[in-house]
Amino acid sequence: MKRSAGIAVLLLVCAAITRAAPADCWALRKHGKNAQAQNCFAALTRSANAYERAEGFWGLEQWEQANAQFRLATTQEDSKAIYKVRWGLLLHERFNDSDAAALFHEALNKDLSLAEAYVGLALISADGFDGHAEEYAAKAIERDPKLAEAHEVMADLALANDDPQTATAQADEAIALGDDALDAMAIRAAVELIGDRSPDAWLAKIRAVNPGYGEAYARVAHQLELHYRYEDAVGYYRKAIAADPQLWAAHSALGIDLMRLGQQQEPYQELELAYNNGHRDAATVNSLRLLDSYKNFDTFRDDTTIIKLNKSESALLLPYIRTELHTILAVYSKKYQMTLPGPVQVEVYPDHEDFAVRTMGMPGLGALGVTFGEVVVMDSPSGRKPGDFNWGATLWHEMSHVFILTATNHRVPRWFTEGLAVHEEGQRSQEWKNRVTPDVLVAIRDRKLLPVEKLDRGFVYPDYPAQVIVSYFQAGSICDFISEKWGETKLLDMVHSYAKLATTPQAIQQDLGLSPEEFDKQYQAWIEKQYGAEAEHFDEWRDKLRDLVKAEEAKDHQTVERLGPAVISLYPQYVDDANAYGLMAAGYALGGDTKSAAAILVKYERAGGQSPELLNRLAQLEQDAGEMTEAIATLERINYIYPVKNEDLHHRLGDLLYAQKDFDGAIREFKALLASNPVDKACAEFELAQAYYAAGQNDKAQDSVLAALEIAPDYRPAQKLLLEIQASTAKSN
Ligand SMILES: [Zn+2]
Repeated sequence: MKRSAGIAVLLLVCAAITRAAPADCWALRKHGKNAQAQNCFAALTRSANAYERAEGFWGLEQWEQANAQFRLATTQEDSKAIYKVRWGLLLHERFNDSDAAALFHEALNKDLSLAEAYVGLALISADGFDGHAEEYAAKAIERDPKLAEAHEVMADLALANDDPQTATAQADEAIALGDDALDAMAIRAAVELIGDRSPDAWLAKIRAVNPGYGEAYARVAHQLELHYRYEDAVGYYRKAIAADPQLWAAHSALGIDLMRLGQQQEPYQELELAYNNGHRDAATVNSLRLLDSYKNFDTFRDDTTIIKLNKSESALLLPYIRTELHTILAVYSKKYQMTLPGPVQVEVYPDHEDFAVRTMGMPGLGALGVTFGEVVVMDSPSGRKPGDFNWGATLWHEMSHVFILTATNHRVPRWFTEGLAVHEEGQRSQEWKNRVTPDVLVAIRDRKLLPVEKLDRGFVYPDYPAQVIVSYFQAGSICDFISEKWGETKLLDMVHSYAKLATTPQAIQQDLGLSPEEFDKQYQAWIEKQYGAEAEHFDEWRDKLRDLVKAEEAKDHQTVERLGPAVISLYPQYVDDANAYGLMAAGYALGGDTKSAAAILVKYERAGGQSPELLNRLAQLEQDAGEMTEAIATLERINYIYPVKNEDLHHRLGDLLYAQKDFDGAIREFKALLASNPVDKACAEFELAQAYYAAGQNDKAQDSVLAALEIAPDYRPAQKLLLEIQASTAKSN
């Protein structure tokens, strides 16, 4: 929807000679009359009017000249507000959204009724998923109901938001305004495809107007991507390129989509082609950079998994991730009664920027992981603040998507696959369960939860900033509710219903036996029972927590001990920054009461607290109290949160496991210690040797002890151990 057209083509027979208006030239282009369009634009470049010259150069794709002429046109006294909008659209097309947005706003300052400026703002917001796109599109329609582009933008947004009714209605409005509303026709085709019907009639209509209009196919492909149908999207990007081989945006998008499916060679060619032809938007440039950085990754394969880890941390992370991944595959295969068709690929990025590139152009930024078919892409714990992120929970979450997308052939509404994935985290561990954050409590209090039938809309283009987080919570809690009331198997029944193309109201009716409205009512009552009290007392909790923080800062541990329990009972699930558990533990420690400090930290741990610092403190208290099993369990929790840059963790855990005679566990931790580049490497090798020896693996024990002695030849305990190992080996031969 980048260019405006709409003036009747019939007028244009002599366009090149008599000099047509810019809109006429664009109409020729839109109708595929490329030679005439070229002449038309060339004629415009010879106009006495700077604005017309700008449009002419734009049409000839001479961007610099177009830009310069727009600059000239908009500084002249008789300049019209629409010139700034057109200039903004040029900049948007050339990947400069911030200057484009400024121009749209300037145009509106001059003329508040300018619908085209709102269309421009809607396009920019839609690309950035910032939540304002629909509002802008609605303003455009309000200002000028006869502006086809405004309806096209609205239709596109509605379909992205899984609202095919609105998408269809808006597209039809655009088509009624002009029989060359090709983008609207593309959206109608996408509606059909997403509903598993044939798009052919609409595609034929588009071809009848302009057989070379590749953008239509690219638009369909983008919608398919937003509906998780990456492989189908590849097919449509290919059609886009076949229709218009010079549609560089489609080459780039094809490359990125293929990357999502785990490929490298073809993406590189497509992205480079786009780049070399001047299509240098952030997505293209960053994706090429990412492909280049793959040389810094190690790839580990076995029968069912492909794991890609950065070389700097692959030795450390591989054992943990591979073990967890195999557990997940076994559990989900049994639960979902299926095996995946091929190996699953998991990529782990220590640089969050690389991860962001991998997910660029997808809604829900700020995510920790993303699944594309059978490829899971996630942050590494080393790329996040310690405590921000549990890689284990994220892996269970993303792998649930892999199974559900496969089971339903990618026909599953966003809310359900997200909800089930969140629910699965809680099935794996109570402590990884869906937690109510302050944003969620406020949404419950203010009755902002969506009806289940409309829940998808909270994910892609949210109405308020926290709505994405709230929607994840709501979707997860709906699955918790279904599991609690009807049983876990009903969730699987719903998966099968979606696979057979049921809508959400149908799935709820046939699997749970009630209407969506009745379901919403029962769910609301359940949520109310679970969190109603916390939601109602939210402000009181916030005020009391503030007092608690002040008391702790004043080192007034008596007040901390007095206020703490009330703060916790008002909102026990709050375990984030400045939580009452941590404050109370600090207060008890100050007063020398280590027993109470340990007890409150256990509560923190059970409530799902993820701060490595607090958990580490708890492990120490448990160890000091002789509770070795508990200390081990606490440190093992930290392994799921922040196993990187944590030499001390692996050393302590290895020692504790060794003392408990869990030699395999000790071997795992001492290897992790070695992979953490410890200060005392000889000692780490020696401890690993001890664990191997105790586990009866004399060969490996000997290798490790020799490695220790190579670093420190005079290391007495190592010398002794070597003799012992050799004697033992000789005896058993
Ligand atoms: Zn997810």
